[in-house]
This record gives sequence, C-alpha cells and structure tokens, in this order.
Amino acid sequence: MSEVLEALAAVRDRVARAAGAAGRDPADVQLLLAVKTLPADRVREAIAAGAHLLGHNRAQELVGTAPDLADLPHEMHFIGRLQSNKAGKVVPLVSCVQSVDALALAERLDRLAGREGRRLDVFVQVNTSGEATKAGATPEDAVVLAVAVAALPHLRLRGLMTIGARSSDVDVVRASYDRLATLRDDVVASGAPGTADARELSMGMSTDLEVAVAAGATMVRVGTAVFGARPTR
Ligand SMILES: *Cc1c(COP(=O)(O)O)cnc(C)c1O
Repeated sequence: MSEVLEALAAVRDRVARAAGAAGRDPADVQLLLAVKTLPADRVREAIAAGAHLLGHNRAQELVGTAPDLADLPHEMHFIGRLQSNKAGKVVPLVSCVQSVDALALAERLDRLAGREGRRLDVFVQVNTSGEATKAGATPEDAVVLAVAVAALPHLRLRGLMTIGARSSDVDVVRASYDRLATLRDDVVASGAPGTADARELSMGMSTDLEVAVAAGATMVRVGTAVFGARPTR
C-alpha cells in the first residue's frame, strides 16, 4: 500500500470510529483533504487513492496547481481567507467557497457565479474560538450573515464552517464545535429563504476530528494526518 493510501485509510477509520461512538452514520461525515503546500504529484496520488474532495486555502496555489489536476476527477473547495480581488480567479476553479465571512465577499461571489450562469456552494465561516488570528464572522453576527448569504440568488448556503480552538484542552475545543452546531440550528430555525438545507458543519482537522464528529461535523478537513507535516513557512 502506498503511504498516502495507508494514511487515508487510517483517517477514514478514525472518522468511522468517532461516528460510531457518537451513534452517527460514518457516511454522514465527508472527508476533505487540505492540500496546501503539496506538490501536484502528491495530490494526484491522493486522488488516485480515492480522495475526491479537496480544499485549497491560498488562491495563488489553487490557480497554480489547477492545470496539473484538470484531468483527474475531483471536487475542489476554497477553505482559506479570500480577498475580493482574488475571487474572480478562484470561482471558476471551485464548486464551493467555505470561507465566506462578510456580506461584501458573498455579494461578489454571487455576481461572479451569476456571470458564469451557475450556482456556487458556500459555507459561512465563523470564528468560534475568539482567537484574534482566526478568520470568520463573530458568533454574534453569524446568523444574520448566513441568512443574508442564503438569500443571494447564485449562492447555495450549505452550512457553517469553523477552525476549532487551538487548545490542548478538549473541553475548549469541544465548546467551539458545539457553538457552531448551535449557530447552525439557529440558521435553520430562522426559516429564512435558502436556509432549510443549510445543515452542514465543516469542522475538525487532523488533531481533533473526533471531537468535531462527536459535536456533529458533516465534513472534516484533514491535511497533516494524511500527508505528514507541512514545511514551516
Ligand atoms: C490546513 C487546513 C486544514 C487541515 O489542517 P491539518 O491540521 O493539517 O489537518 C483544515 N482547514 C483549513 C482551513 C486549513 O487551512
């Protein structure tokens, strides 16, 4: 077995065990591979090993590696900070932007998707940890923003995304994921147009995916656990 294949199987096993422990169906938790900093051949290896859902968090890298992946079946999400002036380059290359944290960005994405005659999936990113370095709308603003995003004609709100608290205290990490789940419930309960199906929770990474799955994650985003440590920048 190749290294990536083995690591991928181990992560799938972790997800399945965590889902089982929480009384959830493992099929309800998708695995997205975060492929930042990886050379295209490693990403190709992961796709060959059965990974289908990938995420990039830097526009320049996404644009640079897209031609090398164009012939392989995969779905690409954008999961990082997106400056409005880069959105035009990103939208044609992705099916979903998970990092919508402001209405101005959502409106720009909506216009771009409309111009392409398509609908773009989005998540609203929430800063559930309160850490200053993390992107995302504040929990206080998140529901209002999600409702406004859901109303845009060329976007489809799938749910909420967060990067969990960076803490070795599981309770602190869990609190950030529970917060996202509660906010998702509030979005759906709003009854606002476009929110009824916005049930997804994109949360959990290599170190804490079990906590996220226990809190209801429908998508975990994993890099290190599959590809090994990234070079420090
Ligand atoms: C890199 C990245 C991940 C994956 O992180 P790992 O700790 O390597 O699993 C998840 N989400 C986002 C937004 C990322 O940038």
